[in-house]
Amino acid sequence: MPHLLISGGTKGIGRACVGLFAERGFKVTSLSRTGTPDNAVEGVLYLQCDVKDPESVKKAVDTAIEENGSVDVLISNAGIAVSGLAQDFKYQDYRDVMDTNFGGLFNLASAVIPCMVRQGKGVILATSSMWGQTGASCEALYSASKGAVDSYIKALAKELGPSGIRVNAVSPGAIDTDMMSCYDDETKQVICDDTPLGKLGSPNEIAEVMYFLQSDKASFITGQIIGANGGYLI
Ligand code: NAP
Repeated sequence: MPHLLISGGTKGIGRACVGLFAERGFKVTSLSRTGTPDNAVEGVLYLQCDVKDPESVKKAVDTAIEENGSVDVLISNAGIAVSGLAQDFKYQDYRDVMDTNFGGLFNLASAVIPCMVRQGKGVILATSSMWGQTGASCEALYSASKGAVDSYIKALAKELGPSGIRVNAVSPGAIDTDMMSCYDDETKQVICDDTPLGKLGSPNEIAEVMYFLQSDKASFITGQIIGANGGYLI
């Protein structure tokens, strides 16, 4: 059975990926600060880990490999959002957002790449955001962190392609998860009105794109930032 290692598998998009991959025959390890959630998926290994902390990631990845074998697919998904005026953000906001959204990817990729290179194969995926491509007003730090994710993914794809490793990101639009709970119903309606498909995306719609990208059906796709945004960015 192939092994999926995912960060932020307890809620939202990550939770949907965990469910889908487990149902389709993957051994799954989820890393998050809270470890095992109330709605745990049977058979999934939940490990407590803060992706901001390289030591915590290294320890969790070692345990994941010991328990579930070498990593075939990494999904760096854990992320946080902060909104506000650019001049009001504090240095700590900058550190938290960059260290989680980009640092988490860096820490996880650094921990699994040696193993994937030894295997001569592997897939690395990240959950980016459409704001990484366009920038969002009042989400300057978040946008910058996802822009860093996109550049890193493209660079990794070039570096790791010769070792048989594909690297891509999924760049969602507005998805109906806890991350959207800071928006009131009126704001959510405006987002839906601006989206050609007229709705928020579901976590499962993103999980399906992740599943496709790790599969052999995507065997010639690498270094891409795949938009899944209901047409918001057209
Ligand atoms: P969510 O429901 O808030 O889930 C976030 C997940 O990340 C949780 O499982 C959380 O678990 C984990 N996490 C956060 N900080 C962590 C840390 N330091 N270490 C380990 N785990 C951490 O959010 P979501 O909407 O599913 O977002 C998932 C990803 O999609 C994020 O990267 C987000 O930026 C991206 N995205 C979301 C949207 C959207 O509209 N929802 C749009 C574009 C992109 P713990 O709290 O237990 O640590």
